[in-house]
Amino acid sequence: MSEACDVAIVGAGPAGLACATELRRLGVGRIVVLERFDEAGGMARHCAHPLWGMREFRRFLGGPAYARRLVARALAAGVEIRTGTTVTRIRPHGRLELATRDGAMILDAARIVLATGAREQTRAQRLAPGMRPLGVMNTAALQAFLTLEQRRPFRRPVIIGSELVAFSALLSCTRHGMRPAALVETEDRPRSRGVFMALCRLLGVPVLMGATLLSIDGAARVSGLRLRLRDGSERALACDGVVFSGRFTPEAALARDSGLTLDPGTQGPLIDAGWRSSDRHVFAAGNVLHPVETGGRCWAEGRHVARRVAQDLSQGSRRREAVDILLGDGLRYVVPQRIAAGQTPCTLVLRANGALRGRLVLSDGAGRELAVASLRSHPEQSLRLQVPALDRAALAGDLCLRLEREG
Ligand SMILES: Cc1cc2nc3c(=O)[nH]c(=O)nc-3n(C[C@H](O)[C@H](O)[C@H](O)COP(=O)(O)OP(=O)(O)OC[C@H]3O[C@@H](n4cnc5c(N)ncnc54)[C@H](O)[C@@H]3O)c2cc1C
Repeated sequence: MSEACDVAIVGAGPAGLACATELRRLGVGRIVVLERFDEAGGMARHCAHPLWGMREFRRFLGGPAYARRLVARALAAGVEIRTGTTVTRIRPHGRLELATRDGAMILDAARIVLATGAREQTRAQRLAPGMRPLGVMNTAALQAFLTLEQRRPFRRPVIIGSELVAFSALLSCTRHGMRPAALVETEDRPRSRGVFMALCRLLGVPVLMGATLLSIDGAARVSGLRLRLRDGSERALACDGVVFSGRFTPEAALARDSGLTLDPGTQGPLIDAGWRSSDRHVFAAGNVLHPVETGGRCWAEGRHVARRVAQDLSQGSRRREAVDILLGDGLRYVVPQRIAAGQTPCTLVLRANGALRGRLVLSDGAGRELAVASLRSHPEQSLRLQVPALDRAALAGDLCLRLEREG
């Protein structure tokens, strides 16, 4: 079976739904959002604490309520949302292969937007040592247990990691009557703002920085874990669960299997500043591009990408010669990774390796400084650099993004 639409969006999270709604507002005809789960809304569906929606609805909402509002807006705008539909392959010229409850299907779209989000690394990807007892999961799985299944998987877990999402795990635990035994970070410094560490102290949860996980113990269920502490000593911690938090990677299997070029820095699809991937029919938005931004930022990016897609549909797709942005030492990734003439001004989203204080400089092949920002950031902070309108001379060769550290 096959059918056609103007824009197919893969993923019904904040980025995909915002993109779809904005496309309809801009007058684009048939927009279909494809979602593999039975419910649309993305990650927010099972993240209950009220840290969503300020940018989109001018109020703090719990994740499920936020997701419902995004879905309602999209439906009211005339977007078609198909749940229980997994996109298994993107073929050239906008063809999608779908796995649905009714079997395999083909959908032909004039343009495609990939908005498949990001996920936390699994225990296996982190090479965590020890036994394989029940009770080890990441934050997303914990929240799915609590919100979707209304079940408490443990009572006294240890949370590994100190990115922002670790505090999401912490709040989820305390909200549901669980008391974390500790928050453990392998680095010597927290990976998010100090205020979140203060939250741990406030909740009476010990924080162990610079600790290495030696083993997860237990036969059927987790009974404890062993750590090597910063001073070299070993410590056993009794617990009945382990939550691995953070270390996000883009959900990029579809992009990779479909032959899109991936960026080694983000491991998501490589895009130009028109938010277009290496396939001229395929654009991308949200956390599949940059692990990981807040829901509000992904939502705003979805709207931005909608405008690019609508413009592309009305003007006809033109392949533009883009130059690469080369990264200097200390920078982990930049999005977009390429810029073509006519795609500036634009905003670069980037991350550094570790905390930093200094100047971020974008320069052209002749060494001229095109954009500069003074920065002071903690390790997992998302950074922004505004790039002004650039002329053809500035885009004659690759651009260079470098960090000049202070002190
Ligand atoms: C545990 C956890 C807690 C978080 N808490 C917060 C918070 O409190 N506040 C906040 O702002 N942000 C939070 N985030 C970050 C959050 O992921 C993003 O803010 C936001 O959900 C990203 O939106 P997105 O649209 O890019 O992706 P997602 O929301 O992840 O949506 C992507 C969608 O694509 C679907 N999909 C993937 N592949 C396919 C396919 N092949 N076919 C069909 N569908 C597919 C997925 O099922 C998913 O529904 C949290 C993240 C995690 C993991």
